[in-house]
Amino acid sequence: MTRKHNYLSYLLGAGLLSGLYLTSLHSYVLFHTLAEMFSIVVAFAIFLLAWHTRRFLDNSYLLVVGIAYLFVGFLDLLHTIGFKGMGVFQGYGTNLATQLWVSSRYLESVSFLIAPAILRRKLNLSAVVAVYVSAVSLLLGFIFYWKIFPTCFVEGEGLTAFKKISEYVIAAILLGSIAGLAAKRGEFDPGVFRLLVASIVVTIGSEIAFTLYSDPYGLPNMAGHYLKIVSFFLIYRAVVVTGLERPYAIVFRKLKRSEESLQRSRDELELRVKERTDELRKLVAELAHVTRLTTLGEFTASLAHELNQPLTAIVSNAHASLRLLLRDNPDLDEVREALQDVAEDGVRAGEVIRRLRTLAKRGVSGKTRFDLNRAIREIVALARSEAAAKETSIRLALDSGLPQVLGDRVQVQQVVMNLLLNGIEAMVDVEAESRELVVTTKGTESGEIEVTVSDAGSGIEAEKIEQIFEPFVTTKSEGMGMGLSINRSILAAHGGRLWATNNAERGATFHFTLPAIQERWK
Ligand code: ADP
Repeated sequence: MTRKHNYLSYLLGAGLLSGLYLTSLHSYVLFHTLAEMFSIVVAFAIFLLAWHTRRFLDNSYLLVVGIAYLFVGFLDLLHTIGFKGMGVFQGYGTNLATQLWVSSRYLESVSFLIAPAILRRKLNLSAVVAVYVSAVSLLLGFIFYWKIFPTCFVEGEGLTAFKKISEYVIAAILLGSIAGLAAKRGEFDPGVFRLLVASIVVTIGSEIAFTLYSDPYGLPNMAGHYLKIVSFFLIYRAVVVTGLERPYAIVFRKLKRSEESLQRSRDELELRVKERTDELRKLVAELAHVTRLTTLGEFTASLAHELNQPLTAIVSNAHASLRLLLRDNPDLDEVREALQDVAEDGVRAGEVIRRLRTLAKRGVSGKTRFDLNRAIREIVALARSEAAAKETSIRLALDSGLPQVLGDRVQVQQVVMNLLLNGIEAMVDVEAESRELVVTTKGTESGEIEVTVSDAGSGIEAEKIEQIFEPFVTTKSEGMGMGLSINRSILAAHGGRLWATNNAERGATFHFTLPAIQERWK
């Protein structure tokens, strides 16, 4: 409940209680009836709430108190209609109402005393109700039937000693019940505990007020009734908080928490997906770079660079040694140093050549079965950025029903990449809208798969169309002329072929074949 709500209900409560006072100006019987009715209604409400929310109560305390209030309310009802001036029970006088009142207070206080002791017990509810029915029947029997209940009020004299002592005894029982409750403090929500103690304390106050009156219509009697209403209302609040407000709050808190954790795991998942995507993107970029590097032009360039360094050093050191030796008085130490450098650089150059030999000997390595169309799609995807930079599009026309091939997937992809880059290069001078590469695959009658890469470039002069596959043959100023010859040797190692044709309209088409795996069990 919000603070605003709280003030509002305090205001409403104060308004009701003062309204109640106004009725006493008209007739005290009216005030008494309304005041009692009010606490009786609250008593029944306490019972109903405690009974129906018993699953949510922390322990049996409020349930026992709730059941007690059903019977307390019933005795209070009899007390109200037996009150002096109501004229319902003929020939009883003020004594009857007072006896019923005392019975009710004993029932109430003893219940408060017992409740803490049994709050952890699993209660047999019908047994509890049976106990209360018997107790109330017995009390009513003492009052109405056997008429042996001690006299509480004598007309003209006022309250009897029994009544006065009883109120003190009841107050003592209530004090004891606070001690019992305090001992079990840990079983209660702090707010509920405070409400219960406050209620019992107010009840004690009400008892003390009732010892004071000699006139049932007097001021102490009125104060006692006010305190009684307040004490009942505090119990009612305790049941509402424990049985209704808190369980809902707990349910909503749980709901909120599970919603939050759901949101958290969704965020985590999104983050992980994003991380994985970024990783993959980086990997693809790296792969593209590596593939580009291993195309022949760049491979050869890096090879030349690696050999160039030691060879330059060898030449200059050799010259230096010669110059030193040709002096009149050569310093042999210096010459030895220079020659040592020559020897070391020689070894370095030899090392590069040795690595190159191993590379050349490797031939086709790591043969696997693979889907050629997929390998082509992958490498085309990598070539697209290069193509886009040159405003060239790449169209695929792949035959989807092809068998697999056996070979070094990376090497075959390298061949395709090289053909694509050559094609892109061949079209740089062509108008942008015609810059298109077409890649096709199809099965041949001889059981091979043929791949073609065609462009709309300048085409190849007839006399050069075979020569370009030889090492170092180029048709333009730049380039080493190594790409196609290496492509051809890679394909030869796979049992395939590579050749070129000029297109009818414009441009050239490069064709290569690979033997397909015979699908014997098809
Ligand atoms: P490079 O590394 O110099 O490109 P290649 O062996 O790949 O060497 O190519 C040999 C020659 O064949 C190159 O000079 C190139 O101009 C020519 N060539 C390759 N592909 C094409 C093509 N699609 N259209 C026209 N000429 C080509």
